[in-house]
Amino acid sequence: MKAAVMENIGEIVVKEVPRPKAEPGGVLIGVKACAICGSDMRTIEHGSSSVKPPRILGHEVAGTIIEIGEGISGFRVGESVVVAPAIGCGECDYCRSGHTNMCPNLETLGFEFDGGFAEVMAVPAKAVRQGHVNKIPEGLSFEEATLAEPLACCINGQEPLSISIGQTVAVIGAGTIGLFHTELALLKGASRVFLVDVISERLKHASLLGKDVITVNSSEIDPVKEILSHTNGRGVEVVIVACPVGEAQNQALQMVARRGRISLFGGLPKDKSTGYLDSNLIHYKEVGVFGAHASTAIQNRLALSLLADRKLGSAIKYVTHILPLNQIEEGLTVIKKGEALKVVIKP
Ligand SMILES: [Zn+2]
Ligand SMILES: [Zn+2]
Repeated sequence: MKAAVMENIGEIVVKEVPRPKAEPGGVLIGVKACAICGSDMRTIEHGSSSVKPPRILGHEVAGTIIEIGEGISGFRVGESVVVAPAIGCGECDYCRSGHTNMCPNLETLGFEFDGGFAEVMAVPAKAVRQGHVNKIPEGLSFEEATLAEPLACCINGQEPLSISIGQTVAVIGAGTIGLFHTELALLKGASRVFLVDVISERLKHASLLGKDVITVNSSEIDPVKEILSHTNGRGVEVVIVACPVGEAQNQALQMVARRGRISLFGGLPKDKSTGYLDSNLIHYKEVGVFGAHASTAIQNRLALSLLADRKLGSAIKYVTHILPLNQIEEGLTVIKKGEALKVVIKP
């Protein structure tokens, strides 16, 4: 079968590789669509502690079941599915309490396992057993269904933030993740969302989201001053940092209201992750600061149903590019240039 293999840092090669087999309890997916994630970009450019090349990347996968391993019931060949990619051990305290994304032995498709930039992807038995293979609701295309993974991660990130009716929210970073966070916050009843980015091209996407979104171009104006002036000097109840920039975390602490909540949704580069947060601001303003990592199979199902029910309007607006597997390099390039929201690869 054809696959895009990461052979080394900075090197993706589209080539023939042996087709995987379905292990007992596992399934094989014929990949119909696999979106490129920011983390794929990071892994290709800088490597990842979870990826030992050669590896097939891609964890935002939708396709059809083409083979079912021994001992499985409840699935049939030809069914359309997505796979929630971050798989816990199923046995530790975190897994048993439903927080499978916090499993110390988390393994992820497209990281520790081969992923979806290939014609066929094997889903391990432990993923099937724990409900990670989710059927795509009727009416949702494969391209749209790939969005369930990043949307599920946003659902997970917002869980501790308790956004409720009438609250004000700032989202820093207007990529796909920032736009999802904006739409979810509005869905939960936020009265206004300030969407902040340094790139004006990106802020144009805000027009896809509706009237309660106020864009702030932080390369032109100080986003802290701007948001304080819109909120009578009080700041916003919730700030979501949806970019890998330390300075944005610092701005979040300054623009958040007293007793507000901050999500550090975007991780920082390994060697640049300290020294940004003034802990006295957290202390005196009684701010809650939360992290976010991956998502669970349950959140993946919720994301699928939000997409299918058109709770985010037509999700296809997020898919700006669809490319065949052998043009994956081109997909990486348009993302790097900041021209794309989601690039979907069709093997
Ligand atoms: Zn992703
Ligand atoms: Zn576990």
